[in-house]
Amino acid sequence: MGIADGKRALVIGVANDHSLAWSITQELHRHGAQIALTYQGEALKKRVEPLAQQVGAHIIGELDVTVDEQIESTMVKVKALWGGLDMLVHAVAFAEREDLRDRFLNVSRKNFSRSLEISAYSLVALARAAEPLMEAAGGSILTLTYLGAVRALPNYNVMGVAKAALECTVRYLAQDLGRRKIRVNAISAGPIKTLAARGISGLGDMLRSHAERAPLQRNVEVGEVGSTGVFLASDASSGITGETIYVDCGYNIMGF
Ligand code: NAD
Repeated sequence: MGIADGKRALVIGVANDHSLAWSITQELHRHGAQIALTYQGEALKKRVEPLAQQVGAHIIGELDVTVDEQIESTMVKVKALWGGLDMLVHAVAFAEREDLRDRFLNVSRKNFSRSLEISAYSLVALARAAEPLMEAAGGSILTLTYLGAVRALPNYNVMGVAKAALECTVRYLAQDLGRRKIRVNAISAGPIKTLAARGISGLGDMLRSHAERAPLQRNVEVGEVGSTGVFLASDASSGITGETIYVDCGYNIMGF
């Protein structure tokens, strides 16, 4: 019996087999959870479908988190499928490529708003839509963040501001939803080469520096993010909410 046995998890943010959301999906599956996946648009559908098959996951359909009707219809489909929901995984972020290099100062009003809407507000919208599906036993909501929320890092720029908003959102949602036994947490992952991460200028330097300076002397593996996701889904983490949990080989504790 796995520690996520019988849990019903909706995972948002699988783009391909490098996605952190895919690692969480695989680990949830390995530990007994049932999974439903969405895809951002038709272009990603053909990548997500074969992955879903590998773990017997349900494909719920298209979900662009900026479209309220798609958020609503996703939850309607989850309700029809399972009647309720135990876990929501939010692994979604966006910044224009031009804003992930050079000076933060140059970000436009439009790009700033869009990054924060997709990367932070979407968690609020999804949590609100998921709340009625989480029953008396409560549930677990998980999002993904990065150290750039609390430290200034070269090139991370507007995404750092969005992640700061996201981590704060986690605390306020935890406050609102705690009485319903719904826990809300973030994993702050060390850098991992994914589609989104490749957009950050200087990713190679970031990976090298993390591996050199982290107490564990290496970069984090994607499966380590996945297994922490399972822990946060499971009743083993029943006393944890509103937290940002670092899964970064200890990099964040270092002063130099
Ligand atoms: P990824 O490119 O595999 O995933 C990003 C996902 O965001 C994609 O599935 C994409 O479809 C989705 N997305 C973007 N805009 C969307 C929209 N409008 N509607 C719906 N979905 C949308 O990359 P990843 O690295 O797995 O990113 C997942 C999360 O992990 C992000 O929040 C990212 O910031 C975070 N994170 C990544 C790292 C890393 O080094 N890779 C480190 C810490 C945190």
